[in-house]
Amino acid sequence: MSALISKSAFIKAEQCLKHFYLYRSHPYLRDSLSKEKQLIFKRGTDVGILAQQLFPGGTDVTAGEKRDQQLFAQRTRELIEGGADTIYEATFIHNDLLVMVDILHKKDNAWTAYEVKSSLKITETYVKDACFQYYVIKNCLPQLADFHLLTLNSTYVLAGELDITGLFKKTPVLKDAVKNLSYFEHKTQVARLTLEQNKIPDIKIGTHCFQPYECDFLGTCWKNTGDPNSVMSLGKLTKQAMFELYDNNIRRIDEIDLNTIEHKEVKVQVKAVIEQKEQADVKEIDAFISGIKSPYCSLDIEVWMPAVPFYQGTKPFQQIPFLFSMVYEEEGKLKRYSYFKPFEDDLRKVFLEQILEATNAFATVLMFDKALEESVLNQLAELYPEYAKDIARLKSKIIDLAEPIRKGNYYHPDMKGNFSLKSIAPVVNQEAGFDKLDVQSGIVAMYMYEGLGTQNAIEAESAREQLIDYCEMDALITYQLLSFFRSKLV
Ligand code: SF4
Repeated sequence: MSALISKSAFIKAEQCLKHFYLYRSHPYLRDSLSKEKQLIFKRGTDVGILAQQLFPGGTDVTAGEKRDQQLFAQRTRELIEGGADTIYEATFIHNDLLVMVDILHKKDNAWTAYEVKSSLKITETYVKDACFQYYVIKNCLPQLADFHLLTLNSTYVLAGELDITGLFKKTPVLKDAVKNLSYFEHKTQVARLTLEQNKIPDIKIGTHCFQPYECDFLGTCWKNTGDPNSVMSLGKLTKQAMFELYDNNIRRIDEIDLNTIEHKEVKVQVKAVIEQKEQADVKEIDAFISGIKSPYCSLDIEVWMPAVPFYQGTKPFQQIPFLFSMVYEEEGKLKRYSYFKPFEDDLRKVFLEQILEATNAFATVLMFDKALEESVLNQLAELYPEYAKDIARLKSKIIDLAEPIRKGNYYHPDMKGNFSLKSIAPVVNQEAGFDKLDVQSGIVAMYMYEGLGTQNAIEAESAREQLIDYCEMDALITYQLLSFFRSKLV
């Protein structure tokens, strides 16, 4: 076990001292990192490397095979003493505290530290992290004059070559950092004392397990809440409301008094668990689906939101639609149709023309949770005003099948408090098998598309097929959901 307290460890102590202790003393108990989180971390690293171009010609102290923080700190010291003016991943150790900062740059004999965030916004947590870094660095390098957070600039539009200076936005955090120096003196002392106790702090689970980040030890602390009927598996309830029940010793859903529940979407879950059967408000479902006109199809769109704009005229994190899949019936047979936008070229106009043409003949377009699709269509209408009327027509045909579920007009106990398409899929179609697909979420789909830029033709073709399988599965379940709702009316 390293004797050093890193920034990551300290952030955990801020969230929960038990989190900090487990992270330091029992790291093997950590939950495995989801594919989504791994991809988000990788994006952060890539943006950090790109930001180095703001201060070219620096030395990365972490370069090389060896992962040794003492060595990185020593290299940083040597570079500073040797007159370097730009250091990447500059590493500092003050007493037992360790921090690394993305870029350290010297101008007119004064050093400024820059921490890069692959984000458009600055959060309170980012500022606190930066303040902790400042506290450690200032103690090692008194000439540290300023500290900035570097985020992606939401107003930057790619025009011609990528302009690194325009892409990033600098926000000074020196004032906060100076103000908080004594706070860290105290808090780091609390963290040290926790380690010295040599026993796991007795801290109960609570809303803090998810703020500011989802804790890495939910698998350990929450294992006793694994009962499928635990109140912790209730959806559509705030974490705070969940813990009110839990702390009042109401641990199982079937212990909740139905008369105390106000909202239908929560009540329906409790009833489903108590009666161990699905709950369907036939009248409401009937009224909802009566608005569906034939012929109808289902439609799902996948988007890519590159942190760094890739196509001309786009901004950081702009939604770029790259794939849509439809399912419909023709001569009594289910048909699928997908359009996949090649990675290299923008082709959003072609994408739009394809989607308009493919949906034109249908009176209703079924979707599940239409928010993303509508946002994409709105952006396309702005971009290509000549198609605004056609887009408005397509939007007027959309019926969102998530609505009856969201409103609590249908619920099955197997959904386990989750109201997503993936959770209802096995109820609608036992063969659905989202879990057998290589891509299982929109986030993974997005990063897989991004990966096409560096893959060879064979890898790219395989990724393309996997993405289409995923999108078609979404469209298929959405399509089958309508028949499923209809079956509840007979
Ligand atoms: S799961 Fe909750 S209680 Fe357990 S270590 Fe994490 S934050 Fe603390």
